Amino acid sequence: MPRSLAPLFALCLILLAPLAQASYITRALNKPVPGGVAVVDLGPGANAPSARFDGKPVLVVKEQDNWLAIVGIPLTQKPGTATLTQGTRQLPFNVGSKKYPEQRITLKNQRQVNPNPADLKRIDRELAEQIKAYRSFSPTLPSNLILDKPVNGPLSSKFGVRRFFNGEERNPHAGLDFAVPAGTPIKTPANGKVILIGDYFFNGRTVFVDHGQGFISMFCHMSKIDVQNGQTLRRGEVVGRVGSTGRATGPHMHWNVSLNDARVDPAIFIGAFQP
Ligand SMILES: [Zn+2]
Repeated sequence: MPRSLAPLFALCLILLAPLAQASYITRALNKPVPGGVAVVDLGPGANAPSARFDGKPVLVVKEQDNWLAIVGIPLTQKPGTATLTQGTRQLPFNVGSKKYPEQRITLKNQRQVNPNPADLKRIDRELAEQIKAYRSFSPTLPSNLILDKPVNGPLSSKFGVRRFFNGEERNPHAGLDFAVPAGTPIKTPANGKVILIGDYFFNGRTVFVDHGQGFISMFCHMSKIDVQNGQTLRRGEVVGRVGSTGRATGPHMHWNVSLNDARVDPAIFIGAFQP
């Protein structure tokens, strides 16, 4: 190298250094927007630190010598500074903004848009059951953070889409849809344990799989469930079949991913996230 270029070369190394240091997990999963994931460095140490976000325990993994918190950011989070708590330490991280598109859906069954009082009672009970499942926190370390696609097929409706049913706004789309035919087997994208099975008003036939430490998959609108509550699953095992039970306009596979009780974009974990 000509001597005159040496300082430039050194400068390049300095500029590149922070990029090279970003861990594999950070590069793959750090998408700090509402409905995304923040990877927060907790530093080195012999024992796994515990961390909390919004008072809820957070997934903590080790990469090389460093502990990393994998924080789910709820769709309702305001952009700006958010804070992770690790014991008495407050660890701020920045949440960017993301604009989610709108979708208008027509349902023939008006009761699925404006449920009757008996339906509402049922919906409340079912919601409580599902929230409890999302809040469960087991000590198991997930087998893999980069997840397999539960089915092979094109994505249809994306995560976070604001949805209007027959013109009325309802909850945003909390998961990712795949356009696949009825009967297609749905495979668990990581090892896990079945923590809840149900047949719900909105979600139809549903299975919750706990991958460990609050990292939870939910599959719904299934035609058939092939597992039992409490069953331990190996990555790739079939949990059930694609269907259109519950509030669905046709057969598709709906998949939610949750971290610390925050529903986040499953696309992040299959390398399909779009900012
Ligand atoms: Zn869906």
